Amino acid sequence: MYPLLDLHCDTLYALHNKPQAGTLLANSLHVDIERMERAAHVTSCFAIFVDSEESPSPWEAACDLHSLFLSSLQANEGRLRQVSSSEEIVDNPLVGAMLSCEEGQILEGDLCRLSVLRSWGVRIASLTWNYENDLGYPHSMPTKGLKGLGLEAVSEMERLGIIVDVSHLSDEGFFSVMEHARKPFIASHSNCRSCTAVSRNLSDEMLRCLGKAGGVAGLNFCPSFLSADNKKSRLSDIVRHAKHMRNKGGRDILAIGTDFDGIGGKLAIEDISGMEMLWDALSHAGFTQTELEGMWRKNALRVLSA
Ligand SMILES: [Zn+2]
Repeated sequence: MYPLLDLHCDTLYALHNKPQAGTLLANSLHVDIERMERAAHVTSCFAIFVDSEESPSPWEAACDLHSLFLSSLQANEGRLRQVSSSEEIVDNPLVGAMLSCEEGQILEGDLCRLSVLRSWGVRIASLTWNYENDLGYPHSMPTKGLKGLGLEAVSEMERLGIIVDVSHLSDEGFFSVMEHARKPFIASHSNCRSCTAVSRNLSDEMLRCLGKAGGVAGLNFCPSFLSADNKKSRLSDIVRHAKHMRNKGGRDILAIGTDFDGIGGKLAIEDISGMEMLWDALSHAGFTQTELEGMWRKNALRVLSA
């Protein structure tokens, strides 16, 4: 199996909210170290995700998830290693864990906290989740662009080496990032709106712009982002989105952002150990070895080193 870099999973949040599910080593969720080992050479981006309406202090909630991440690293020394660069990902013989952030309100309006996140090893951060926040507006409010603080955040993230993630952001927010960004940005876990008409997916114009900017889009396994049947996803749905993505954004845009442990329903790929099925399905659908290697990690590694 070719090494995989999954750009988004919500396993830390799921474990924090549901400790009875198990630990990062072994659990009843979609992602754990045992199954990552079975899949061979997997690096997952573990999102520090905060539901800002649930948390009196999003920053404190983020610190809690970071503590959970640190204790999981410590408990699994020799099996799990934190990575934060493309070189570290490639050189790491163990299961890899990279940190990302989801929900810019974690900063509580204080951009100095971006340096703290970077010191934790965070390399990817989204500007919004599903609510309006200090930085901008979510996908459900498509005509509103980034706020002034959001534009400042983009510059500061680029200065620190944190990749701007436009998943969950409004359409106008996407175009604000595009105009303002000097480095490639990504949509860590978003599909194609032409294939499934939901605001969380990317329009053809967004796919073209993202491709032109040298970014990537991670294919998301959430049933409702893959087809109109929001209870169940099929491999053929993922293949259809992958083809459309390649068509509009170019082959260099392709990446994987499973959204494991942030999604429900009957999944075509039930957990991180099942990725080979997708490789085979895409390969049968005509994706070349080069395209698949790009999708599995090379395209995302390119953005990490930009
Ligand atoms: Zn998400």
